[in-house]
Amino acid sequence: MLAEWEKLAREAAAKNEPYENYLLRLTEAEVTTRSANALSARIRAAGFPVIKDFDTFDFAAIPSLPKQKVLDLTRGQWVEQHSNCCLIGNAGTGKTHVAIALGLAICRLGERVRFVTAASLVTQLEEAQQQHRLDRLLGQLDRLDLLIIDELGYLSFSRSGAELLFQVFADRYERRSVLVTSNLAFSEWGSVFQGDRMTAALLDRLTHRCDIFEMNGESYRFRESMKTKKEKDPKKRK
Ligand code: ADP
Ligand code: MG
Repeated sequence: MLAEWEKLAREAAAKNEPYENYLLRLTEAEVTTRSANALSARIRAAGFPVIKDFDTFDFAAIPSLPKQKVLDLTRGQWVEQHSNCCLIGNAGTGKTHVAIALGLAICRLGERVRFVTAASLVTQLEEAQQQHRLDRLLGQLDRLDLLIIDELGYLSFSRSGAELLFQVFADRYERRSVLVTSNLAFSEWGSVFQGDRMTAALLDRLTHRCDIFEMNGESYRFRESMKTKKEKDPKKRK
């Protein structure tokens, strides 16, 4: 308001506008700025590794992914209903890209989101436990409407790490949403979590109410680099 009042007052005076209009315009400017600031703060707090949105995602490159169903998730009902989402598929198929784009959409709806890799989350949990501040970290995670756990399956965890991660999933069950990306089919999750009982209990909670998307296909990265190579060296083209 401080930044805008003089300019708006001059405009209002020039147009001979009533006080009410001036006050409305000034308040509108304040509200718009505040919500823009709040949105950028939420996006910063989410900790996305890069910003990727659906406008740069080519759904034609991954026909196994149902475009409309994915875009429906940007409207956020699933987060309101505390259900989950899983993106499962081999490397380079756009899982992280879609996870970030969905996270951004949920930030725009005013929800609190955090993006973290599975490995980093487990390290954070283990460190917090050693430093006797696990409750505080779990409390922080609990306040998030959506926790995005990327790259589950690339590294396996220690027994205690797996148990801590299990606790996060169990705490969120039916209360808060989780989005998980993984290169592993569910049948292989036992290798990450060690122990079939814990894996079964975790999958039971995670998939109870969950949109599951299989993203298997050719690696987008690989295809792009092949394209560039061919463009640079057209003689090699068949
Ligand atoms: P994954 O997490 O499945 O290994 P990424 O999401 O990291 O894959 O994708 C690898 C790279 O390719 C990223 O730069 C991503 O933006 C890009 N990419 C993947 N799929 C697509 C797509 N369908 N359209 C546009 N870019 C894509
Ligand atoms: Mg990824």
